[in-house]
Amino acid sequence: MMKKLRFNSATIHGGQSPDPAYGAVMPPIYQTSTYAQSSPGDHKGFEYSRTHNPTRSALERSIASIENGQHGLTYASGLAAMDAVMKLFSPGDEIISTNDLYGGSYRLFTKIFENYGLKFHFVDMQDSNHVAKYVNENTKLIWVETPTNPMMNIIDIKGMAALAKLKNVLLAVDNTFASPYLQQPLDLGADIVMHSATKFIAGHSDVVLGLLVVNDDDLQEKLAFIQNASGAIPGPMDSFLTLRGIKTLHVRMQRHSENGAAIANYLNQHSKIGKVYWPGFESHPNHQIAKDQMNDFGGMVSFVPKGGDLATAIKIVEKIKVFTLAESLGGVESLAGHPASMTHASIPKEEREKSGVVDGLIRLSVGIEDVQDLIEDLEQAIG
Ligand SMILES: *Cc1c(COP(=O)(O)O)cnc(C)c1O
Repeated sequence: MMKKLRFNSATIHGGQSPDPAYGAVMPPIYQTSTYAQSSPGDHKGFEYSRTHNPTRSALERSIASIENGQHGLTYASGLAAMDAVMKLFSPGDEIISTNDLYGGSYRLFTKIFENYGLKFHFVDMQDSNHVAKYVNENTKLIWVETPTNPMMNIIDIKGMAALAKLKNVLLAVDNTFASPYLQQPLDLGADIVMHSATKFIAGHSDVVLGLLVVNDDDLQEKLAFIQNASGAIPGPMDSFLTLRGIKTLHVRMQRHSENGAAIANYLNQHSKIGKVYWPGFESHPNHQIAKDQMNDFGGMVSFVPKGGDLATAIKIVEKIKVFTLAESLGGVESLAGHPASMTHASIPKEEREKSGVVDGLIRLSVGIEDVQDLIEDLEQAIG
């Protein structure tokens, strides 16, 4: 066993060692569904690739290492990982969730799992006393997403963990927007960390994959059972790509954060721009919590042009050239999205405007290009 490595080394070496077969330094892509047995039940730990695959196991060790957890689990997508968590529960169980939530998560909860008898409460989590009001004897889980999408609100993970412990319920954190470079929820008291590795973790917009990390052995056993029994596992190629992405997570996140700060500050002083949402501003309502629980502020920035009208926002996202107008986030390339017509289109206008998703809102996933090119691109698009 290697000694416990610092984060910037764990991304490269955590849970990894040269492949025993030929000493390959990079984990081979074990593109196989099955494994030879010398006698029935006598094998090298691998029987069938829905249950185990060496490339996937390498990724599971890597994510556990960089989230400071005991066990990693891999899934076909971020939503498949969440689906597995929901299958821990039974009809009548209640779950309290962040209200300002990724649209696909909201859809999974309300359109799939409500039909199976789970009950969800979507709650503003800025204040844990407010969340406490929704806990009753059926409550099994608190589901936190922070920073939130696209409003960049910050939820106090330690505060939520204290509430969860007090009420004897599980706490899960969707850590997709932050990545473990920025925050490590298990260290702050969470029981389950979830990632859409599709975003910052894999980081190159070339794979869809989901991850969970837990410390508790019993929870790991239940989730591994669901993983195998339900079968929403990633293939070895996608596991390999994600593992390769993790090796540069720390350098990418450092640049995402530097560029994000520069873009947020540029937009904030622009005469044609109104509100800018970025947790690094001292004026951000949750700035102190962000400073306490995050190592930096990341590359996600949302803003509204002055006037906040739809036409101006559309004009800007049509004129950008270095930024690409697209769904998703967290890749090396800069992306811009228009939540009201893209990611949040399924939420009624009145509902989304309550949480700040107005027609003029633009969300940026600031990539790792030269920041001057990004600023000049926004400058010509804003006009
Ligand atoms: C993308 C995303 C998901 C869903 O992940 P997929 O890999 O697309 O299934 C969940 N939560 C957040 C915050 C996301 O950004």
